[in-house]
Amino acid sequence: MKKVIVVITTKIETYKNFINGMWQESDSNNTFFSINPANIEDIVGIFQASNEQDVNSAILAAKEAFQMWSNTPPSKRAAILNKAASFLEQNAASFAEELTREEGKHINDAKNEVIRSAQTLRFYAIEGQSFTGETFPNDDPNMKVSTEREPLGVVSVITPWNFPLSIPARKIAPALITGNTVVFKPSSDTPLMGVRLVEALHHAGIPNGVINLVTGRASEVGDLLVTHSAIRAVTFTGSTEAGEDIHRKAAITTRTQMELGGKNPLLVMADADLDLAATLAVNGGFSLTGQACTGTSRVIVLKEIKELFVQKLIEKTKTLKIGNGFKEGVKIGPLANEKQLKNVLKYIEIGKEDGARLVYGGEPLTTDDYKTGYYVQPAIFTNVKPQHRIAKEEIFGPVIAVLEADTYEEAILIANDVEYGLSASIVTNSLKTAHQFTKDIQAGTVKVNRTTTGNLMNAPFGGLKKSSTSTFRESGRVGLEFFTQLKTVYIGY
Ligand code: NAP
Repeated sequence: MKKVIVVITTKIETYKNFINGMWQESDSNNTFFSINPANIEDIVGIFQASNEQDVNSAILAAKEAFQMWSNTPPSKRAAILNKAASFLEQNAASFAEELTREEGKHINDAKNEVIRSAQTLRFYAIEGQSFTGETFPNDDPNMKVSTEREPLGVVSVITPWNFPLSIPARKIAPALITGNTVVFKPSSDTPLMGVRLVEALHHAGIPNGVINLVTGRASEVGDLLVTHSAIRAVTFTGSTEAGEDIHRKAAITTRTQMELGGKNPLLVMADADLDLAATLAVNGGFSLTGQACTGTSRVIVLKEIKELFVQKLIEKTKTLKIGNGFKEGVKIGPLANEKQLKNVLKYIEIGKEDGARLVYGGEPLTTDDYKTGYYVQPAIFTNVKPQHRIAKEEIFGPVIAVLEADTYEEAILIANDVEYGLSASIVTNSLKTAHQFTKDIQAGTVKVNRTTTGNLMNAPFGGLKKSSTSTFRESGRVGLEFFTQLKTVYIGY
């Protein structure tokens, strides 16, 4: 299983940290590689393995820039976001190629992500300029009562590898437009996309210290990014385990926003269009190689239609082409790294040991074009019981667990019987069942006759239970709230 890097043919570029407006080498003098998961002989770049000295410098730069940036007119802040968006758009083709090389997703998905990131910058450039407080009627004719929104200060942005450009964009854009300064640590699996986003802002003329980038392992720099006394807020997307760790460590004066794991169900009712249901399960469970936080990992299907549904699910899964994201027609790319591959294969074994039936796939792919990448066949399990680990724990790979229920009520009980509550969907033709579902299901994103994956840039996004801190939502206009604090002002005259 262990794959070894053997060939380095082309010149590999070394990328630097961005601190106080300058591209700098790490104080550690150490670097690390970012590797193409479709071909581990292809090294995407060399990056700074930062240490606490680098983080201290970045936080100090952000702290010093805060007063200037928070007093910069919103229209000027917006102009910088718009210019950065144009830079992403102009370079969309090459950045998308780098994204595919670094993360593994299909080139079309990568292009969409670059464009969406640019749109996110533009969205917040507009929304942020009209985001303000309220005035409150009161009984004193000579008094005005209102709330003012102020930026928090220095914000840590810590992000995962699965959307290495669009997740940072949806955190950094609202942070900047509201007048905060940022220290950004991208995932160590996808640091190049972090560099590209910061380059876009640098190119757009962002003043020194307002955005700072430190690459490197969380084990070296993660703690300081959360516990430094100048950090006023941490916005994090990643695993629930890491999110809980950060949440525990943050001081009471540090606001946290955690977007975490999921175990998202798709419910299939007896009246459902079964072709649609199978398509939604395949698209929700296997697109992005099952590596979407909102990916469908459980399908809870009514007993009377289960067999027919599973048959259709297998048929559709068989048509999915697995391979390098640069190849035409590929639907399933590699897993993003070796840890991911091991984790998925581990859960496939756990599923079998717990008594579930592997009815399709689940084999690692190790020959021909697959031998240099982290490939696995998508897996479908039936006979899964709610207490099985593959029905409870996030796998974050292309594995669908099919569970049976006798009634809608039982399906809801099963759906809600997990620690997570990120996204959920139901396939039904009954308006009554659809509405009932939106009330009964414990999830932050609830859909009817649509995939569990995907969310609008202009609508709130976040989870319930262990999928989120449930305090502030990301995305949309409400995504600005996390980055501002309210002051209530009483003026008598
Ligand atoms: P991860 O291992 O938790 O890492 C996420 C980021 O946090 C990386 O930059 C990582 O740095 C850093 N990190 C890890 N542990 C940390 C700690 N104790 N303190 C500070 N920083 C820490 O997650 P991942 O493997 O990158 O991403 C997959 C997970 O993200 C899945 O659980 C998925 O559900 C979740 N996710 C959630 C959403 C959502 O919106 N809810 C969206 C996408 C993904 P290193 O890379 O250096 O380790």
